[in-house]
Formats: sequence, structure tokens, C-alpha cells
Amino acid sequence: MNKKILVTGVLGQDGANMCEYLLEMGGYKVFGMIRRVSNPNFVNCESFLNNKNFQLVYGDLTDEVSISKLVQEIQPDYFINFGANSFVACSWDMPMQMFDINACGVIRCLEAIKKFQPNCRFYSAGSSEQFGDVDYSPQDIKHPMKPRSPYGASKCAANHIVKVYRESYNMYAIHGILFNHEGTKRGEEFVTRKITKGVAKIHRAVKNEEQFEPIELGNIYSKRDWSDSEDFVRGIWLMVNKDEPKDYLLASGETHTIKEFVDKAFKAAGIYGGWTEEEGDPLSSKYLMNSHSYQPLVTINPDFYRPAEIDLLLGDPSEAKRELHWEPQISFDKLVEKMVLYDIEREKKKE
Ligand code: GDP
Repeated sequence: MNKKILVTGVLGQDGANMCEYLLEMGGYKVFGMIRRVSNPNFVNCESFLNNKNFQLVYGDLTDEVSISKLVQEIQPDYFINFGANSFVACSWDMPMQMFDINACGVIRCLEAIKKFQPNCRFYSAGSSEQFGDVDYSPQDIKHPMKPRSPYGASKCAANHIVKVYRESYNMYAIHGILFNHEGTKRGEEFVTRKITKGVAKIHRAVKNEEQFEPIELGNIYSKRDWSDSEDFVRGIWLMVNKDEPKDYLLASGETHTIKEFVDKAFKAAGIYGGWTEEEGDPLSSKYLMNSHSYQPLVTINPDFYRPAEIDLLLGDPSEAKRELHWEPQISFDKLVEKMVLYDIEREKKKE
């Protein structure tokens, strides 16, 4: 009989990529959990919504009755939890909701598994935001947890509770740390997608000789370790299929500033420019187009700065590579190019 896999967060980037990956592999019945909302956006699920091995199910990480019912009825062999409020910037505005979904939600999943299907393997999505104010670089799985946002703190809580359930009840439950990961399904509020969508809009305007607004960004000096989400779902699948449960860390092992991402994104669209800044004043930074009278392509808006920032994230994926034989396939340059070209195509369809 096909193994049954319950995936939460299927409208989001990672949940959708995981479903696509499992369904393409074949041999699995995939249950994708979504919350009941009035206007769900299925754009990330278009490729598999009608697959006969896929079934949408309703549930909510804040409602233990719904989670228990799903686990009891489906009897999943794997439970992969991508459901989360994953936007760091809004976590200062709704810290309680962050904890309810990201931390208590994980307890609800673990309790349901313990009670109704104790052999189910559970994956909880961890984040490099847990490392926060980092002590050393690159960060490995042993790096202390020093979160700088309510989001990071909620993921630390989830990490601890997964360990407690694993050790207390002998469950196969892991919390794998994921550094930033992006792609064409990434939400628009994250900086990479905000940039690639903005670049695509400007590309269309330049081509049609129309006016355009510059992209407004916050702190362009922070550094992130970006990978492709499709590489990560393969890594997660390897993690949940080890003989013994163990937490791993997935990252690219490279770090880049937001500035570099901007530069590469415009180049991928064939638009060339350069950064200017009045000395010592990052808010005056601008990315100006080389042609068209040095029109600004990017400006800084302090509203996008955060109450506390993580300046540098750089992960060490060597253990995952060695023990899981995981090899990412998409480089930083390829990732930026893929996102920009995809968004340019989407803009063309609007014409
Ligand atoms: P995060 O690392 O999970 O918080 O992912 P984000 O894509 O939201 O942010 C990555 C980095 O980009 C952070 O250091 C942000 O402060 C920085 N950043 C700069 N400008 C922006 C912006 O306009 N939007 C977002 N989301 N982040 C920005």
C-alpha cells in the first residue's frame, strides 16, 4: 500500500514544493492540509491539485481537535509540518499568534501523533533565525540559540519541544534547521521575491518606455545564506528517512548582502546599474540605472527596517552533505536568474 504523508502549509512555498517532489517520485498518497480561509490562493499548487494521489484536507495548527482528527483518520506514515507564520518582520506585531502557530502548533501535532499514530515520522521546520545574534560563522547545528525576533524565539521553542517528545516518548520527531530558501513560489513579502517582482515590473516599463517607481527596501547590508527551496525539500526527505532521528542543518554555505542580490537580479534582466551612497548614511543609498539619466531603480525606506536585525547568517551544511549525501543543485546565481526570468514571464502574460 502507498505510504501516506500529511503535509501542512501546502499553499506556501515549501509545502507546495514538498508535495510536488513526493508526487513526482510516486508511490505516496499525499494529504495537503490547508486552513479554512475565504479566498485561498492555490497558485503554488496548480501542478498537483488534480493529481489522483493528492488530497486537500482542512485543519488548523491552532486547533488541536482538527489536527488530532486528521492524524486519527489518515494514519499518516510521515507528518511534515511547514505550516507557520513565517514572516519575521510581522512577528513583533503578533508575537502571541506566532507562538500559538509555530510553537504550540508543534505540540498539537506531536500530541496527535503520540496518541493516534506513534509510528508516524514527524518533521518540524526549523530556521536560521533561531541562531540570531550569532557567536561564530559558519553556524552549525550546535550553535547556541540566540533569537532576535519573536519568530526566531517561537522556532526555538518548537525545537526544544520536538527534542523533549523524541526523548520522552521515543518518537521519530526531528526539527531540521533551514537557512533562507527561496524560489518562484516565494511569498512577495520576503526580500528576494520583492526584488525579483520589482525588477520584472521595471523591465517591462523600460521595454515599453513607460514610467516606473523604484523598489523600496530596508536594510540592504544584512547578509543571508540563500538556497533554493526545491533543494531543501529533497534534503528534508532524506532527513526523515534516516534509520535514527537526528536534526540536520541545510544551507548553501555562502552568504550575500541584499545589495548583491539586487545587483544580480537587475543584471539577469539585462538592466545595468550601480549603488551610490552619501558617506556614512545608508538611508541615502540608491541603485541607479546606468542609462536613462541614472534613474533610481532602488531606494531605501526606513519603514522596512526591523526593531532588531540579524546582520549575518551563514550556515555549515557539511554534516547533512556527509551523512545524508545531500547535494544542492541550484547555485545562488542560478536561483536569482530563475526567479527573475520567471517573474519577467509573468509580467509578459499581463500585457
Ligand atoms: P528573513 O531572513 O527570514 O527575515 O527573510 P526576509 O527576506 O524577510 O529578510 C531578509 C533580510 O532582508 C533581512 O535582513 C531584512 O531586514 C532585509 N530587508 C531589506 N529590505 C527588505 C524589505 O523590503 N523586505 C524584507 N522582507 N526584508 C528586507
